Amino acid sequence: MPRKLAAGNWKMNGLRANLTEIETLAERHADSQVDILICPPAPLIASCQGTLLEIGGQDCHAAVSGAHTGDISAQMLADVGATYVIIGHSERRADHGETDAIVAAKSEAAYATGLTAVICLGETLEEREAGTTLSVIDTQLAGSVPDTAAAHNTVIAYEPVWAIGTGKVPTLDQIAEVHAHIRSRLVARFSEGAKMRILYGGSVKGSNAPDIFGVPHVDGALVGGASLKADDFSEIITALENSK
Ligand code: PEP
Repeated sequence: MPRKLAAGNWKMNGLRANLTEIETLAERHADSQVDILICPPAPLIASCQGTLLEIGGQDCHAAVSGAHTGDISAQMLADVGATYVIIGHSERRADHGETDAIVAAKSEAAYATGLTAVICLGETLEEREAGTTLSVIDTQLAGSVPDTAAAHNTVIAYEPVWAIGTGKVPTLDQIAEVHAHIRSRLVARFSEGAKMRILYGGSVKGSNAPDIFGVPHVDGALVGGASLKADDFSEIITALENSK
C-alpha cells in the first residue's frame, strides 16, 4: 500500500507571514503516517527549508533553463528544497493554454530532476453533463502522463473542474467510478500502476473528507482553499490519518 498523501495547493495566496501555518501543521502532524505536502507560491519555497513537511511547486517549465521570462524550472524548485511539483492544474490548462503534451513535457522535466509530479486531470461541467467524463480522463491520462511514470515519481490528481473552488462535490459514487477507472488504466499501462497514488481534488473540507477518504482508490486529496489555514487543513489530514 502506498503512503497516503494530503497535498495543499496555496495557489496565488500567501505571504511570509503565512509560513506559520506550515510550522503549525508540521508540529501537529510530526509523527503522521501520511505524507503531507504544501505547495506555496514560488517565492515562499526557499523559506520552507527545514520544515518536516514535503514542499512543492505549483508548476514548472519543461526546459532546464533559457529565455523563458517569468518561468521556473524543475531544477530551480529542487534547488530550493521542493520535492514535488503540481503539473497541469486546470487553472494552468485554462489560463495558460497548457495542453496534454505540455503537461507531459513538464512532468518529464520534473522526473529528470528528481521531483514527484502531481499530474492533474478532470472533466468540465459540460463534459460531465455530456456523459464524456471517462473518455476525457482517458485522453488526459494518455496524453499527460509520460511512459516513464512510476509510483515514486507520479501522483495523479482527479479534479473535476466544476468542483474546484465552488463548494460543489461529486457524489461518492461518481468519485468511485472515476478513481476505479483511473486505477484500471494505470494498472494496464504501468508496471507500478497499482501503487501509483490517486488523489481526489475539488472542494475537500474537514466535513466531507472522511466520506471521500472511504472511497476505494482515493489515496488522499489535493486541497486548495482549505489548505490555507492550519486548522482547516489539519482536519483533513486527521481524516486521512484515520482512514483505512
Ligand atoms: C485545487 O485548486 O486543486 C482545489 C482542489 O481547490 P479547492 O480545494 O479550493 O476546490
